[in-house]
Amino acid sequence: MKRRKFLKKSLQTVPVLWTTPSILSSCKKEETSINKTVIVVGAGIAGLAAAQQLKSKGFTVTLLEAQEKVGGRLRSNRSLGIAFDEGASWIHGITKNPITDLAEKAGMQSFYTDDSSRKSYDVGGVLRKTTVYDQVEDEFYDMLDTLMKKGSATQSFQTVFNAQYPTQAKDRLWRFFLSTYLTFDTGDLNQLSSLLYNEGEEFKGIEKIATNGYDTIANYLARGLSVQLNQRVTKIDYTGTKVQVTHNGQTSTADYVILTVPLGVLKKGVIQFVPNLPSAKQNAIQKIGMSCVNKFLLTWQTAFWDDVQYLSYTPEATDKFNYFVNVKKFHPASNALMTFAYADYGRQTETMTDAQVTEAIMAHLKDMYGSAIPNPTNLLRTKWNSNENTYGAYSFTAVGTEMRHFEDLAASLDDKLFFAGEHTEVDYFSTVHGAYLSGLREAGNIIDLQ
Ligand SMILES: Cc1cc2nc3c(=O)[nH]c(=O)nc-3n(C[C@H](O)[C@H](O)[C@H](O)COP(=O)(O)OP(=O)(O)OC[C@H]3O[C@@H](n4cnc5c(N)ncnc54)[C@H](O)[C@@H]3O)c2cc1C
Repeated sequence: MKRRKFLKKSLQTVPVLWTTPSILSSCKKEETSINKTVIVVGAGIAGLAAAQQLKSKGFTVTLLEAQEKVGGRLRSNRSLGIAFDEGASWIHGITKNPITDLAEKAGMQSFYTDDSSRKSYDVGGVLRKTTVYDQVEDEFYDMLDTLMKKGSATQSFQTVFNAQYPTQAKDRLWRFFLSTYLTFDTGDLNQLSSLLYNEGEEFKGIEKIATNGYDTIANYLARGLSVQLNQRVTKIDYTGTKVQVTHNGQTSTADYVILTVPLGVLKKGVIQFVPNLPSAKQNAIQKIGMSCVNKFLLTWQTAFWDDVQYLSYTPEATDKFNYFVNVKKFHPASNALMTFAYADYGRQTETMTDAQVTEAIMAHLKDMYGSAIPNPTNLLRTKWNSNENTYGAYSFTAVGTEMRHFEDLAASLDDKLFFAGEHTEVDYFSTVHGAYLSGLREAGNIIDLQ
């Protein structure tokens, strides 16, 4: 669902910037040994893609991963018998998207989530007319197309929007679109750049949701790689000929290091750099925003909701359980809904107990379907903002961000220390495909040095 906003427009306007790169074909080639070592920090899709590419070219590659498994923000929880993707769920635009090809090779199954299969409820359980919803959606997209003309480098999207659209700012359906179509895609509207909120390129085609777990791709990419799990990197010293990496109190060295930890981890300063990172990179780390999106999966004994793909609810509260993905559409034997909390409310949920979260979600569902609906039997949830492996969901263009800041994040240092991850990909930041392409990019940069 994320980045739906571009979908309509992208049908006419978006250039295809990439032909699908494939590390998989190169993996099959005979590996000829190159006497060079690489440490990749972080075994998310960026790190795994880089490592596979370098290994296929004969480099000796070791991945250091802080968690107990690979995948990073490709993280699937199967404890309830279906895969609940805690991080990424969708392949955004399947045409020429490198993840489409990769998913097929990895055996990741996916399902077309039909955007037009939807119902929208206002408070009091009032079902909205489709024509009303569709019309406001069109007006919303038109607003997105033009608001940046009124934007400024120092003002947030929210400030400019509220000034230009005071009536809509108070309208519950407009507030829903702002939350689910924009905050979800980007970040907090009171931090989001009023100039750059619409930046980023898109692949064409439909949206598909992973059904057997997005981590299928990570596990596939990890095959044959040397991955050291539960290794938290705390220091990177790139003063000498070789780069020294401190993890769990020990030091490993390599000719090259690719750092793929999320922007949130860089912002926290938990990794010490010797020498300090250049000021341009430090500035970019500070200026680009890190959003918060939390996801919640609830299951019931029986389904009581409409047989459509998406249900929306438009409460007064912002960013609060206003959107439901009907999981039953792609897992017919399950009775599950997935919902979301974004930005400040998303952060707030991380301090709430399971019972409090369930009560808040049920309050919305009861308003939609009546107080007699059954209680859920299970709840799964995420806490991305306090997660020490990410400190947030993904990067976004905050007030003060310039697009060159993404390039500053990607810039390598002394041809020894390289940077990948979704936050380093100027065209496709905040996505799985962006992260993947960034890993290939940095592997290519190291290969080019030989
Ligand atoms: C809730 C949510 C929903 C999303 N939905 C979508 C979607 O539907 N479609 C889409 O395309 N994208 C989506 N994304 C974005 C997508 O998941 C990410 O852009 C992508 O997975 C990032 O990959 P990465 O390799 O850059 O980072 P990560 O996957 O975060 O990998 C970085 C790795 O570094 C590790 N690490 C961190 N600190 C250290 C340390 N000190 N030492 C060693 N290792 C460390 C982490 O554990 C992690 O494994 C979503 C993300 C979230 C959070």
